[in-house]
Amino acid sequence: MTLLSIIIPVYNEEENIHLLCTELVLHCGGDYEVIFVNDGSTDNTLAEIEKIINNNKCFKCLSLSRNFGHQNALMAGMAHAAGQKIIIMDGDLQHPPSLIPLMARQLDNGFDLVVTKRNKTENIGPVKKIMASLFYSFINIISDTKIEANVADFKAFNSKVLTSILQFKERDLFLRGIFSWIGYKTSTINFDAPARKFGKTKYSFGKMLKLALKGTTSFSFKPLRVALLVGSFISLFAFAFGVFALISYFKGNTVPGWASIIIAIMFLGGTQLLAIGLLGEYIASLFTEAKHRPLYLVEKKLNIA
Ligand code: UDP
Ligand code: MG
Repeated sequence: MTLLSIIIPVYNEEENIHLLCTELVLHCGGDYEVIFVNDGSTDNTLAEIEKIINNNKCFKCLSLSRNFGHQNALMAGMAHAAGQKIIIMDGDLQHPPSLIPLMARQLDNGFDLVVTKRNKTENIGPVKKIMASLFYSFINIISDTKIEANVADFKAFNSKVLTSILQFKERDLFLRGIFSWIGYKTSTINFDAPARKFGKTKYSFGKMLKLALKGTTSFSFKPLRVALLVGSFISLFAFAFGVFALISYFKGNTVPGWASIIIAIMFLGGTQLLAIGLLGEYIASLFTEAKHRPLYLVEKKLNIA
């Protein structure tokens, strides 16, 4: 009999826990364990989980010492999964537990990794939609690894894939990219994501931007090359313009040219700042990697040896 491990990072999801667990019990047949990763919740999430654990020994919890972020919480859960089949999903019921049997079956059919793709998401704001579509178009232009839009962190995979994922020691985690980088025999399932049951999104604008930057800097060097190319092109143009200016000066037909000077300064300044900022991102990323800090700290384990 194979064990199925379901990993669910939760951050302030107190209202969702009970309903989620009811649904999970309904849809998980056979031998399974549900590992909640409490990512530094400040509400009653942990108390809700404790109530469930006291009634059902299939439920477990890993409580982190503070909020380490969704991606790190997923890593923490995966490092503690004992199953031969593993599922990662969100704790807000946007990833329907009713899909679990189908995903598990795909693994039995010989696939190593089952990814899910949202057809549409109910009640998603226009800003988030536009941001997401811009991000995915951008990252796919610059990245060598194809990262599909609408592929959620709702996946099923076997222990072979788990071992591969756990080998990634990078601090700036972008799991969506990593899952498509590793390869393996993959199957895709489409689903309609319902709206969040309770509470509101934990991905603020800032957190989304941070994830987008992680995705960009950890999957491609191309932005640096673009900066170099644009820089070279502008320098070349500036040189030609310099020659032109000198000739004009000696011919004596220079005019007081405030507009052209201010435009050149603003344009060059802007491009330079952009390129420096980009460099800064990569250097910051190197800095974080070099420090080698742990990805998460576990404060408490409930029902986990
Ligand atoms: N989450 C987390 N830590 C965080 C942010 C989010 O563990 O710092 C969890 C959250 O509780 C949820 C999942 O990650 O179970 C996805 O977050 P959310 O639903 O807010 O993202 P969205 O669906 O809006 O993209
Ligand atoms: Mg959600």
